[in-house]
Amino acid sequence: MNNKVNILGVKIDMVNIDEAADKIMGFFNEPRLHAVFTPNSEIVMEAYKDEGFCAVLNSADLLTADGIGVVYASRILKKPISERAAGYDIARRVLEKLNYTNHKLFLFGGKPGVAEEAAENLKKEYKELNIAGMRNGYFKPEDEPGIVKEINDSGADIIFVCLGAPKQEKWINAHKDELNARVAMGIGGSLDVFAGRAERAPEFWCKLGLEWFYRLVKEPWRAGRMMSLPKFAATVMAKGKKYKQDGE
Ligand code: UDP
Repeated sequence: MNNKVNILGVKIDMVNIDEAADKIMGFFNEPRLHAVFTPNSEIVMEAYKDEGFCAVLNSADLLTADGIGVVYASRILKKPISERAAGYDIARRVLEKLNYTNHKLFLFGGKPGVAEEAAENLKKEYKELNIAGMRNGYFKPEDEPGIVKEINDSGADIIFVCLGAPKQEKWINAHKDELNARVAMGIGGSLDVFAGRAERAPEFWCKLGLEWFYRLVKEPWRAGRMMSLPKFAATVMAKGKKYKQDGE
């Protein structure tokens, strides 16, 4: 069985949430940084237009389908991914597992105070979780060596990098050789949700694949960004078959 689907050049792993979390836990056994990205259709479209960014995504050790658009695209290409594996859901599953290990977690991203609030809430929920440090996601390029040092000095084994896409993917890629952690996950607005500052769509909407609709009603200013979804579907239908799948 081939385990990736090539969507407009982005090679997405055909894993569900549990399989993704298991893979991530396996990454701790190998002494190097493993990048985990969870592109949605907007990000795949961005990679489609930007070869360099496409290469950054494909260099990941795990690339999962965040968003129903990507899941639909996999069906159009006849290599169906079984479920949406959103960064937030994978992070939750990983946290459950981290709670029973000594691995240290660093929270990086969000507005000042968000990572601290997220840490506080996570410590209540996952009592044994080892949070090594945290830092907000607003910085100048000259701050970056200091941030890398802060993360390394904390002894972190895994970093949640929440700078929004594509910033977080580019940041992880740029620093992968300097970071001593074994896992860096780019998981967008997840810290805002852990901090209780943003809401996730209720499960009902997610299960129906209508999270985008829920967010559109709650956050109408996202409408512009969401218009990329029909364009994405049309592009996959028109051009998707030109990309070779593994084994073809
Ligand atoms: N963010 C950040 N640094 C930046 C830009 C954004 O830390 O320079 C944070 C922002 O505060 C928010 C997250 O990145 O917490 C992006 O969330 P959003 O839901 O927009 O991203 P998505 O999940 O859609 O990629």
